[in-house]
Formats: sequence, structure tokens, C-alpha cells
Amino acid sequence: MLNIENLHKTFGKNEVLKGIDMTIEAGEVVVIIGPSGSGKSTFLRCLNLLETPTDGKIIFEGTNLLDKGVNIDQLRQKMGMVFQSFNLFPHKTVLENITISPVKVKKEADAKAKAEAERLLDLVGLKDKSQAYPSSLSGGQQQRVAIARALAMNPDVMLFDEPTSALDPEMVGEVLAVMQGLANNGMTMVVVTHEMGFAREVADRVIFMDEGVIQEEGTPEQIFTNPENPRTQSFLNKVL
Ligand code: ADP
Ligand code: MG
Repeated sequence: MLNIENLHKTFGKNEVLKGIDMTIEAGEVVVIIGPSGSGKSTFLRCLNLLETPTDGKIIFEGTNLLDKGVNIDQLRQKMGMVFQSFNLFPHKTVLENITISPVKVKKEADAKAKAEAERLLDLVGLKDKSQAYPSSLSGGQQQRVAIARALAMNPDVMLFDEPTSALDPEMVGEVLAVMQGLANNGMTMVVVTHEMGFAREVADRVIFMDEGVIQEEGTPEQIFTNPENPRTQSFLNKVL
């Protein structure tokens, strides 16, 4: 589904991504771990062109996204993104937050978008919150709405950038449970997280990134019980 070759990103003189190669198969759950500042967010943002890579290739469903003339809006519809901050529209209801893009961008009929939004709210466990405003919801509930909103565009891949890092500890589990459900249903996912339990249980593959390169990758079993790279070992010693 996604084939990334020799991806580079430089900000000024700061080379943040120093040649990333990665292949993501349909249905795969890839979890990226690594210290703060290692380039994880920049990498995810490059995938849907929120940042323009300096060099390399991102081949998504057969198209190199860095080719001239690629329709970025169409691409973004196929890649859902969930951030640490939920960024819901405060003056719109939960339902409106979810239907706005399908209606405005995809030109879906109101009734269809609404029915789909209700199905997605049920999926994330918020069936009864469709008429609520974001400010009346907990952080965990808002993040689940943000996931439903991303899913409403019917993406082929979901990118998560530390989706639980801004949450109070007691709300982390409910968001991870929704993500685990998506993974079980075959969604292709790239997840940056510090939740090592999630990585261990849900990831098909774990990638350890540091200083703008992939230092090590493998199954959760390999990475967590038998890391080979000293940097991986040292990182895991700090976080586990
Ligand atoms: P991580 O998500 O792993 O913590 P980031 O991708 O956010 O790391 O950041 C990696 C490096 O890139 C940091 O040194 C950061 O300061 C730099 N960086 C990220 N975004 C920008 C930007 N828009 N402009 C300049 N530097 C940036
Ligand atoms: Mg980050």
C-alpha cells in the first residue's frame, strides 16, 4: 500500500529525516517508537504531505506522491490522520464535526453522511453523544470523535501521531481500545506512540527511529525481548 524510499526532510540546515525506507502492506499495523525529536512526527507529516519531503519517494497505491500534478486533496482523503491534539470544531456538534468533510469535500448527501457518522459514533462507543458539543466531552471522548471524523472519509490508511499523549491516564485505555478494534478489523495503520503495551500487543511490526533514521525494526517480540541495537536497548530501558 505504501512504499517509502530514501525519504529525506531538511529544515534549514537541520536534516531531520536522513533517508527512511519503509514498506507498509495493506492491513498491517506498524508502530513507530523513538525518543522525542527523532523525526517521528515529521515522518508522518511527510506521508500525507503536510510537510514536503526534500528528497525520496512515497509511493501510495501505485502513485509517487512527490510527482508533479498529484492531487493532494484526493490523497489526504485516503489517509486519515489523528493528532495528539484533537482539533474538533468547538462550535459544531459531534455529528457535525464528523459529517462536515464528507459533505463539503466529498459532496456526500447529508442523510448518507449522517447515517455513516452515527455508525462510526457507535463504533467508537459514543452513540449517545451525536448532539453534544466538544467542550462537554472528556479528552478521551474528544479523541474518539476525532478518530470517527478521520474514518468518515473512508481512508485506506490511518496515521496516528501520539494519539493518547495529551490524555489523562484514565482515558488512555478507551482510545487504545478503539484503535485496537480498527486494527482487528484490518485497517492499515501507522502509529507513533509511547504506549509500549499497545505496541507489543497490536503491532505487526515495531520500528525504532532515532536521529532521523530507522535504527532497528522487527516484530514486537524481537524488539521488546531481544533488541540488537544499543540505541534501542537504551531507549527501552528508559521507557519500560
Ligand atoms: P518527534 O516527533 O520524533 O519528537 P519531530 O519530527 O517533531 O520529532 O522533530 C524532529 C526535529 O525536527 C526536531 O529537531 C524539530 O525541532 C524539527 N522540526 C520539526 N518540525 C519543524 C519545522 N516545521 N521547522 C523547523 N524544524 C522542525
Ligand atoms: Mg512527535
